[in-house]
Amino acid sequence: MNKEDINTIKSLLSSPKAIVIIPHKNPDGDAVGSTLGLYHYLKKLSHQATIIAPNDYPDFLKWMPDENTILKYDHQKEESDVLLKAAELIFTLDFNSLSRIGDMQEAVAASNSLKIMIDHHQQPDDYATYMYSDVKMSSTCEMVYNFIDMLGDANKIDRNIATCLYTGIMTDTGSFRFPSTTSATHHIIGNLIEKGANNSEIHNNIMDTNSYERTQLLGRALSNLKVIPEYRTAYITLTQDELNTFNFKKGDTEGFVNYGLSLKGIIFAAIFIENHQENIIKISLRSKGDFSVNELSRAHFQGGGHTNAAGGKSDLNLSDTIEKFISILPQYKQDLKA
Ligand code: 5GP
Ligand code: MN
Repeated sequence: MNKEDINTIKSLLSSPKAIVIIPHKNPDGDAVGSTLGLYHYLKKLSHQATIIAPNDYPDFLKWMPDENTILKYDHQKEESDVLLKAAELIFTLDFNSLSRIGDMQEAVAASNSLKIMIDHHQQPDDYATYMYSDVKMSSTCEMVYNFIDMLGDANKIDRNIATCLYTGIMTDTGSFRFPSTTSATHHIIGNLIEKGANNSEIHNNIMDTNSYERTQLLGRALSNLKVIPEYRTAYITLTQDELNTFNFKKGDTEGFVNYGLSLKGIIFAAIFIENHQENIIKISLRSKGDFSVNELSRAHFQGGGHTNAAGGKSDLNLSDTIEKFISILPQYKQDLKA
């Protein structure tokens, strides 16, 4: 984002505006953290700001300051449409294409409001008036911090803003260990702790609130883990029946895919989760090094994301999806072969 854009946005924000902030569908820690962090900042500047999420997010995020004010488009469509119509400014956070907000995309595309994208995913679409897109960033939360800083308002960051931004940086970096974590990330984290983010409490809220059933489901996922050593690949499957057995709740499978990647020698891991309601197999892909799961997902699984973390889906049944997955590995043998 250049100085000129920043100056324009600064003058836009110098008088109270009706603002809507939108995260992607199935919001994760970075999506909820970045929208709430920006929300608290805009409220401080006396704007009328509302976050509208396409749908609900996991319980382990439901402690963040003011998260209970977030509207869910799938359940509060009327109220949301009124706000979207009246919005003078729409922020879209943590996604690169309007297709990532599901049923909200028509209302957003139809709106005449100025749009500001803040995002770190690859190959962003060109729908926003102002775009702050940087694939090198660890998280959208790190970018919201930079955005506030570029506007000359780092001194306005308080405990609420700091708590939300800390949470998203932490969740998107796997607690500061993925290669996207830079010294700048750590500097920002240091500043957020100084502003009042309670790091230990936040980790506890996110990581240590497992239900007994989720832990049992993890056990099942781990016993379903398969390894294809010649392609340094590991994958997990979970059927809808298995999810039902352990009383699956949104967010319960978050992080499971990383167990595949934790095996010595494995550089590519996947999880395939049957979803009867949407009639799809939801896929999460992770890699180490240069092997791009973003590209693989775009090419074969209707998704995308980052080089080392991407999502996607399949309309085939679970066993056909696995068959397809195994059959495409030879196309990537240059990257994957040991
Ligand atoms: P997850 O596997 O945790 O759902 O997603 C991993 C990363 O890929 C996240 O940054 C997420 O936002 C992104 N992602 C997930 N699904 C999709 C998708 O269908 N399309 C795109 N472009 N990105 C996705
Ligand atoms: Mn993110």
